[in-house]
Amino acid sequence: MAGTTNAFEMAQQQFDHVAKLLKLDPQVCELLRWPMREFHFRIPVRMDNSSIRVFDGYRIQHNDARGPCKGGIRFHPAETIDTVRALATWMTWKCAVADIPLGGGKGGVIVDPATLSTSEKERLCRGFIQAIWRNIGPRQDVPAPDVGTTPQMMGWMMDEYSKLIGQYTPGVITGKPLGGGGSLGRTEATGFGVVYTIREAMKHNKMEPGKCTAAIQGFGNVSQYAAIGFTDQLHGKVVCVSYWDRDDRKPYTVSKSEGIDPIFLKSIADQYGSIDKEKARAAGYSIEDGDAWLSKDVDVLIPAALEGQINGESVKKISKQVRMVAEGANGPTTPEADEYLKANNVFILPDFLCNSGGVTVSYFEGVQNDMNYYWSNEEALSRLDTKMTQAFNSVLEMSLSESAFMRDAAYMVAIDRVVKAMQLRGWI
Ligand code: NAD
Repeated sequence: MAGTTNAFEMAQQQFDHVAKLLKLDPQVCELLRWPMREFHFRIPVRMDNSSIRVFDGYRIQHNDARGPCKGGIRFHPAETIDTVRALATWMTWKCAVADIPLGGGKGGVIVDPATLSTSEKERLCRGFIQAIWRNIGPRQDVPAPDVGTTPQMMGWMMDEYSKLIGQYTPGVITGKPLGGGGSLGRTEATGFGVVYTIREAMKHNKMEPGKCTAAIQGFGNVSQYAAIGFTDQLHGKVVCVSYWDRDDRKPYTVSKSEGIDPIFLKSIADQYGSIDKEKARAAGYSIEDGDAWLSKDVDVLIPAALEGQINGESVKKISKQVRMVAEGANGPTTPEADEYLKANNVFILPDFLCNSGGVTVSYFEGVQNDMNYYWSNEEALSRLDTKMTQAFNSVLEMSLSESAFMRDAAYMVAIDRVVKAMQLRGWI
């Protein structure tokens, strides 16, 4: 599976690998290897200086056999149709493994949002909806925020859709601000979901959570709540987190061998997850190289920043003490590194299982929008725990019964559920 950096080719290769293990019908494979629908549109936006700029936008609907498509919209200068296709495909598998009644979709605009004023961003968001509103909706395809987009942008998009359709329709989009149709628990959902799956994996691997240590890459939304959950809920010790320092233009690891205080570090981090290293130093933290997190003598590694961080080279720096890798980030481990981890008996919590807490609470948001009745934080998180625990157990069961690597087992569970839904609907 080595050799490609094209995300969509990688998604297809991962699928092909498991389809072969499952002896899947070649015609079914042909359907699942490609998105069912792809939209490419151009969005003219009036800029503040009254010129017009035209942006390329995409919405890809990979598969909606199990329910409306679901997936974020990214605003990124390096966005490509293949990245959006890959992410839409992975959303199909993520929703299926989490067992929520949704399919896979993703959107994107080629733009660096940091170069736009607030009003330009609002016009771009409204323009995106004007281009695609006929093909999205609570029963068709439900977007959400992703890289470069925010809850405020989701609020504008929901408003534009509601105006076009002629009625208030909060369920067209999730990740909306609280008070504007958003769900309590969404902020913590992905990080806490990571911790719920770690807790279950520790039971299976007979590890005592209170005696376990973890090293985390990143200190954004996922990492912050994974660190808080690991210390507060599991009573384990997180020895370091890392972050990208925008002043020095390089990453640092912020560590304390007796255990970091995630709430304190969150209080000295900015909205982008960059830590004030002087304040951290003053509080007794060591500031080390950006990749130091990877070689710590800990029980659990939690990559929660970027894709491709554990690769053929870096995987060899992992300490022999590490027994588990919990993938908070999307695609943090390359296929080459997977082989090494497999050979060294490291237990993997694959990304589309481990970080599915975010989409699960997004689904809860849609449910609450439909009911027009909103849950407490505790209710949302306790329902999330139930879903994540069930998802973990179905993947573990598959892994044990098929003697399959956890990543392959997660694919098997997901593909099996999507194929079943297509059969039930008479598509195949
Ligand atoms: P974020 O932007 O809030 O945080 C990213 C963190 O990574 C920041 O602390 C940043 O400083 C750090 N970082 C960036 N480059 C780094 C580097 N080279 N070395 C070390 N740290 C670095 O992002 P997030 O929402 O926490 O998402 C993190 C990952 O989790 C992404 O892969 C994302 O796709 C995935 N994910 C997020 C969610 C969610 O709900 N937020 C859901 C599923 C998956």
